[in-house]
Amino acid sequence: MHSIFGFEGFRGPQAGVIADVMAGRDVALVMPTGAGKSLCYQIPAICRPGCGVIVSPLIALMADQVRALTLAGVRAAALNSQSADSAETIRAFRDGDLDLLYVAPERAGQESFRSLVRQAALDKGVSLVAIDEAHCVSQWGHDFRPDYRRLKALADLLPGVPRLALTATADAMTRADICEQLGIDPGRLVVAGFDRPNIRYQAEAKRDPARQLAAFVKAQGPVAGIVYCQTRAGAEQAAAGLAAAGSPSLVYHAGLSAEVRQTNQRAFQRAELGVMCATVAFGMGIDKPDIRFVSHLGLPKSIEAYYQETGRAGRDGAPAIAHLIWGPADVTLARQRIEQGDAEDARKAHELGQVQKIAAWAETLGCRRVPLLTHFGEADVAPCGNCDNCLQAPATLDMTEAARKLLSAVYRTGQMFGLAHVAKVLRGADDERVVRFGHSQLAVFGIGKELAESQWLRLGRVLEGHDALVRDSAHGGLRLGPAARPILKGEAPVAVRADDWTPASQKGERRKRRAATAEPLPAADAGLFEALRAWRRNQAEADDVPAFVILHDSSLKAIAEARPGSTAELSRVPGIGAAKLDRFGAALLEVVASS
Ligand code: ADP
Ligand code: ZN
Repeated sequence: MHSIFGFEGFRGPQAGVIADVMAGRDVALVMPTGAGKSLCYQIPAICRPGCGVIVSPLIALMADQVRALTLAGVRAAALNSQSADSAETIRAFRDGDLDLLYVAPERAGQESFRSLVRQAALDKGVSLVAIDEAHCVSQWGHDFRPDYRRLKALADLLPGVPRLALTATADAMTRADICEQLGIDPGRLVVAGFDRPNIRYQAEAKRDPARQLAAFVKAQGPVAGIVYCQTRAGAEQAAAGLAAAGSPSLVYHAGLSAEVRQTNQRAFQRAELGVMCATVAFGMGIDKPDIRFVSHLGLPKSIEAYYQETGRAGRDGAPAIAHLIWGPADVTLARQRIEQGDAEDARKAHELGQVQKIAAWAETLGCRRVPLLTHFGEADVAPCGNCDNCLQAPATLDMTEAARKLLSAVYRTGQMFGLAHVAKVLRGADDERVVRFGHSQLAVFGIGKELAESQWLRLGRVLEGHDALVRDSAHGGLRLGPAARPILKGEAPVAVRADDWTPASQKGERRKRRAATAEPLPAADAGLFEALRAWRRNQAEADDVPAFVILHDSSLKAIAEARPGSTAELSRVPGIGAAKLDRFGAALLEVVASS
């Protein structure tokens, strides 16, 4: 770990998992993106006798990993539809000249590969079989790939060889399926914590989204970031808006040709800086550790999706921002999209419920991390101190009275209607359904004219977020939840974010929120840091690899701060192992000495 990867210590469950695999035990590992899954198979593959076989579906990612490993002095190669030199790779594998062999799933499932592995196992040994993105084996996962179903047969050829399944996203059902489909004892499941403490969550109410986005991007300075948009046109518009504001960006969505998509993805992956405006089609395969922000323009479709998408920020562990610009109209749009789709009703209700959940999260007044981690099953989470609400408590408006009216209306109408209907009753709307159900005769009819219909809908979502209202998963109707009673009895207050409730026209000077950016370097080091970046750019170009493959920002920062004067001092910088010291040491010391 130290001499090759230059790391100071293991993170989270790495040490335990590596020890298990070293001892020949299988592991199914669920660990968030950026937490460091690769090390869990790379180190045992290097240390155990024989070559490790790593199945990975992402060809670009494979190529970068092989380059990074080679630079670190590890013998690694890849076999996939785009790899040159397949014959040489096969020879090296057969002759025991490799520590890691990456292979695409379609290749790994072929009989020719199986016989190659059978032979290699007899001759030089196979150290382990690692299956990356293991959720692809399950129909319950979000990216089922039939090729994955043939991987168990491959692993079964190698009795006694540890198998390691790795994924960042798997709910309980998918996890069980991964174990079953890959022949791993469910008792060997390791689920690491979901928290990404270096990511700062912040949300703002949508007013003038193009301007808000441009201001946010500008405040981040020259860094790499992703802007997720809801539609292809939205991604194009966002890019145009940013360009007009002086921040050019790349675009990625399914409407572009495969060629353009690939070019843009590669350009983003390789450059140090730059913004990608994309739909969620820009997803798997982003392996850039130094993405400093992920901004969502509009509400994501669920908390899972949001967590996965924002999880692409800050994989290197340095400060990063998850930023959301949203408004209640996003919920209406999502509702229309879902209702016009051709899914079954139960599915539609489920999807709508997920949108309501993320909307309730966006409205949260408390810590944003607590409900996220709670959603993923973590208990006793403390406020994080690293989200907008923790850093500066939002201004609030008391809505207790309105909340009591809404809860009463839900109760009086029989706890079976959706929010839209209840809002109409409260507003005293002249509506055919309201009249037909006799709700215009109720005492609650017309008692809520002070709020617009859309505001009643929002308040309903806030109450859902508090568990005062509970949505029926089958038909989407609402009933009172456990938190309703104290509110109705006047024992518990209900507050909402003030800024989002006032009509735009009444907004005066808004309090300026400190734009959160990554920790700046002191001026003295900044010059050296820039010099090191310039050196890295040249080196990356010369080696034809992404900049982060040469050295991470965190290593450059550490050099800029420590100003090492000798190889020995340089070797103590995290991320600089023996091979990199060998190759880059002299050049780095020169940059330090001359700036
Ligand atoms: P994952 O596959 O889980 O998304 P990676 O294996 O790509 O994550 O690791 C994410 C980043 O963290 C990489 O840049 C990697 O070099 C770094 N990393 C992994 N383990 C450690 C560690 N123990 N110490 C420092 N950095 C680490
Ligand atoms: Zn917080």
